[in-house]
Order: sequence, then structure tokens, then C-alpha cells
Amino acid sequence: MSLKFFNTKSRKKETFEPTEPGKAKLYTCGPTVYNYAHIGNFRTYVFEDVLRRHLKVKGFDLTHVMNITDVEDKIIKRAAEQGIELNQGNGSDSNAPIPLDEITEPYTTAFHEDRKALRIEDAEHYPRATRYIPKIVDLIKRIQAADVTYESEGSIYFSIKKCPNYGCLSGFKIDEVVSGARVDSDEYEKDDARDFVLWKSRKEGEVYWETELGEGRPGWHIECSAMAMDLLGESFDIHCGGEDNIFPHHENEIAQSECASNMQFVKYWLHSRHLRVEGEKMAKSSGNFFTLRDLTEKGYDPVNIRFALVRQHYRDPLNFTFDGLKAAAEERRRWTDLLIRLEEVTSEGEVSESMKTLIETADRQIEEHLDDDLATPQAIARLHETATAVNRRIDSGEIQTAEAAEVQSLFKKWDRVFGVLDEERGSLDEEIESLIQERLDARKNKNYARSDEIRDQLQAQGIILEDTAQGTRWKRGS
Ligand SMILES: [Zn+2]
Repeated sequence: MSLKFFNTKSRKKETFEPTEPGKAKLYTCGPTVYNYAHIGNFRTYVFEDVLRRHLKVKGFDLTHVMNITDVEDKIIKRAAEQGIELNQGNGSDSNAPIPLDEITEPYTTAFHEDRKALRIEDAEHYPRATRYIPKIVDLIKRIQAADVTYESEGSIYFSIKKCPNYGCLSGFKIDEVVSGARVDSDEYEKDDARDFVLWKSRKEGEVYWETELGEGRPGWHIECSAMAMDLLGESFDIHCGGEDNIFPHHENEIAQSECASNMQFVKYWLHSRHLRVEGEKMAKSSGNFFTLRDLTEKGYDPVNIRFALVRQHYRDPLNFTFDGLKAAAEERRRWTDLLIRLEEVTSEGEVSESMKTLIETADRQIEEHLDDDLATPQAIARLHETATAVNRRIDSGEIQTAEAAEVQSLFKKWDRVFGVLDEERGSLDEEIESLIQERLDARKNKNYARSDEIRDQLQAQGIILEDTAQGTRWKRGS
């Protein structure tokens, strides 16, 4: 079955046909690094990770670029609040440190730590806007050559009425625009659409670069176009973001890129819906604003958070609740427990026809669901159904080692997309195993005090012991 995505631009599902056969080129808008990313940001990044992983499972040779926005209005404001001296020029062709790094570098490091905790895979490139100034300047010059810009007080603006395609992504109607009205801020609402800024002239107290365009700094929108076109080509396959990026950010990216290149900038636009917390809009003032760090400090496992995000389809609004998080943890544990039970199957034998059918059907259906615009809830439901059926066979002793291995491969295959199974049992697990052995020895020696002590100690770590005829089994409990 072919891979299909819902394209925001055409408002329908389309078969994925990459610009170069066998390759997939993906651009995702990255974080603005002036604070920690929140759980709503991570909803988008986790969706993009599922997309990236599924493209790889489908065999595409993937190049994924995620930018780091490290010069932008909010970063400059934050730096100024912290008393960082910004009012100095930077050479345009420079990788040398700049004063803004003092704000952006610790948050960039934090972003990578957070995404790794959520098992978000490394993109192939993480370009930083401040290290892209010469290429941004080149792109602005090409846009100027297309005669769709004008200058005012040293800043360069894109004239949206000169771009016949303006509105193609968001459905914005150009005739509503007040002629000549312009906007300097990077973020604004659709009903405030005006000519947007490509290059902001130097302002007192702000960071600037000395370039052919004069002293100043790039606007936010042009950063993404320059980095995407440089690393993926002027026309590439997939561009993602959260739904709040559709207007103005992505609309502006299309306008400026296509005016410069005369080519289609991006074939498929994918956007995730917003996230609410306990049914409410997330806001610092409502006390329901969570960074990933807020949640891990409360003791929540980041991989359970990942599963809570992945369980919902990316185009449905996600209501993030603590009950939902608990349910995600339980569902995830069912898979882990099944894999542990499968390891303990000892009865040798061939794979039966009925088991073969069970696995092949599940495998095919999971792939069909994920191919259908990444229908994660349906794919996960199929894995749960498979787990139930296999558990039933284990309970009744109707399973052989070869079958157990096949079921494990099925779960491990699709975990390449979901990324939630426990990997190696690891050194912590070795410690647990050795405690279990010590407890068995204690019981043999009738040292019940020590045996109970070990059981309590493990219980405190959330490890549940089950004594069976075959020996002691353990699992992680709540
Ligand atoms: Zn962007």
C-alpha cells in the first residue's frame, strides 16, 4: 500500500511521491531557544519523529533538517532583560561566538537533552540561524531581484500583493490587505496580515550584522527558507510544524522561497493540532503550563509521556491529562510484560499456521494504518489486540519458542516507529536479578527476614516479584 499524507495545502490526503525516488527530504521548524520547550512543542516534535521513523521503516533514504532559531525578537528581549550587552556588530561571515549565545546555547543543550529523553531521534542537520547570515543575505538579494520587496528605514519588506500565490496554504485572501501596511514583528494573526519583514535594520541595543543589505538582522521567516533551501534543495518533499505555524510563518516561507526560485518550495505540508492540558488551553497563568522538565521532576517517565503523545493522531487536538499519562504507562507496560513472558517460553516447536496468520495480519494492518497519514491510534490498537491474543496462548501453554521469537520481532519492528519499548534490560536490571538471586538463596537458607527485606527493597523501586513453579519472575509495577 502506498504512503499517504494529509496535505494542509490541498486539504486532502495525497500519495507520497518524493521529488527523487527512494529519498525523502524533510524540514521541521525547530525551537526558539530562549527557554525550555513545553509539552505542546513536544507534541509536534514527537509527531515529526514518528513521521521520520516511519519514512525510514518504509525504506526511504531520509534527510531531515531541524533548524535552531537563535536570533529572534523574544531571544533579544530575554537577553536585554538579563543585561547582556548586545549592541555590537558581528562579521557577516563568522562562526565566532556572539553575545546571544549566552542565552541560546544552554537552551539548545537543554532541548537536545529533552528530546533524547523522549527518544526523539537525531535529525541529520540542526542548522543555527546566526551561523547562516551570509546565505540568508544571498536569498534576500534573490527575492529583491524578483521585484517583490521594498525598503523602508533600512528594513526590507516583502510585498504580499505582488505574490499571486499568497494565501495558498492558509486560505488567506489577498484583497483584504491594506496596501502598503507592514509588520515588523515575527508573529501576528491572520486578520493582521501585512507586508512582512525580511531584514530588520539595526536598532539601538540589539544584535546586528554588517552585511551588503546594511546593518541589521534577519526576520524569522527568512531563516527557515534559507536553511531549508540550502540543505534540502530549492524544492523538497515535506515541511512540518504545529498548526500555529501555518500562518504567518509557513505562508511567508512559501511566498519568499517561490518568488526567489520560481519553483514549488514544498510538495507536502503536514501540521499537528494543538495540545490542551486537562481540557484547558495551556497557560502559565492557569498553572497548567508544563515543560518536559516540570513533568520529569514530578516523577513522570519521559517515555510514558512520549507514548501519551503518540497514542493520539497528530491531526486531532490532544487533551493531555494525568489520567491519560497513567493509562499510557499501563499500556506500555503490557507490551513490555508480554516481551518478558515471551522470553520465558521454553517449549520448542514450529510456527503454527494460525500463529503465522495472526502475525502476518497484524503486521500488514499496522503498516496500512501508519501508511494512512500515520494513523497511530489504530496501529497501536492492533498491537494491543495482538498482545491479548498472544497472552491467551501463553496462558494456555499453546506457544513455541519459534512463535515467541516471531511475536517479539513484530513488536520490535513497529517499535522502530513508536520508540517506547524498554531496550536492553541493562545494568539496573542486572542489579535486580542479583537481588532476586540473593533472595532465593536466603529463602533456601530459611533466612526469611532477609528474603522479606529484599522483597520490600525491590517493591520500593516499583519491582513486583511473582514466585512461579519455574522460578521467580519480576516486572515493573506502578
Ligand atoms: Zn520555520
